[in-house]
Amino acid sequence: MTRKFNFCAGPAALPDPVLERARDELLDYQGHGLSVMEMSHRSDAFAEIAARAERDLRALLAVPDNYRVLFMQGGASSQFAMVPYNLLGTGGTPNYLYTGIWGKKAVAEARHLAGAHVAASSETNGFTAVPRPEDIVLSSDAAYLHYTANETIDGLEFDYIPEIGDVPLVCDMSSSILSGPLDVSRFGVLYAGAQKNIGPAGLTLVIVRDDLLERALPNTPTMFNYRVMAENGSMFNTPPTYAWYLAGLVFDWLRHDMGGLEAMDRLNARKSEKLYAAIDASDFYSSPIAMPNRSRMNVPFVLADESLNGAFLNDAEAAGLLNLKGHRSVGGMRASLYNAVPEAAVDALVDFMQEFERRHG
Ligand code: PMP
Repeated sequence: MTRKFNFCAGPAALPDPVLERARDELLDYQGHGLSVMEMSHRSDAFAEIAARAERDLRALLAVPDNYRVLFMQGGASSQFAMVPYNLLGTGGTPNYLYTGIWGKKAVAEARHLAGAHVAASSETNGFTAVPRPEDIVLSSDAAYLHYTANETIDGLEFDYIPEIGDVPLVCDMSSSILSGPLDVSRFGVLYAGAQKNIGPAGLTLVIVRDDLLERALPNTPTMFNYRVMAENGSMFNTPPTYAWYLAGLVFDWLRHDMGGLEAMDRLNARKSEKLYAAIDASDFYSSPIAMPNRSRMNVPFVLADESLNGAFLNDAEAAGLLNLKGHRSVGGMRASLYNAVPEAAVDALVDFMQEFERRHG
């Protein structure tokens, strides 16, 4: 068996030790005589798995006590709708920062329910830099401000957390959560699809401040309602139990094997700096993103001669470097360097890029 280096943007690489542990526990979970997939979500064994996952996540992110952690379904895309449903019950206009494709989809969902105000946009710079704080102009009746911490497709990452006083800040953190420490108290709601830095697809993490649980629109579907989810321990219906269990193994790995999020922060800085340095050192490769907003998790780059794209991807795959093709909407290449992608993968990619340039440059 050979595990190759996987640079997929999502579903993304999972840590080897997590998969090994899941394999070891697959048929008989800790002497219970059945798989986690086969157990009732109401069983004591699963309750313990769920509680441990939440405990480790809270410890990793130092989640304050007045925040609820929800393990939901529907992906981050469902949150695009759930956020306005849950926060517009007390009126006001939803506000958005528009820095890329995911933010655009979030605005579109809000517009199904209410008029949305775009408080700042990266459209004028071609999505190569995020708006500066002074460019953010909220509507006078802002119900919340939503932004995308890291736009996964363009590889555009905020280098700051917007400061907006009492207006709840809502953040789509799908592709950057757990990449380093975070001050959760700055946010009203933050959410993330699991399939990048948390676990397998099918689970969506939501962290919401207590006082915001009372703001849902009266017609909010039950399964969309944060308060209902909070009151039912995220088990109003059958949750994605196996994905929840695997997320718990990832949290355990981050906390106990990897040394927590400060250590991940240093590792992620080192990994992405190595790759950007290789891109910047060559005229053969380039990145269009403004330096302060270069994503640490998703590193897009283009070849000066795009006719070599096919050869680059074929040769990379032959060298055991998978999923480097950029998103179909932007082309080029993209290397996603989530927590589970080891530094050795980045070293192998940089070696490959230099060798490819020598052959074709
Ligand atoms: N937001 C961001 C930043 C994403 O990267 C993605 C998926 N790539 C989504 C939202 C949509 O996530 P999902 O597929 O879980 O709905």
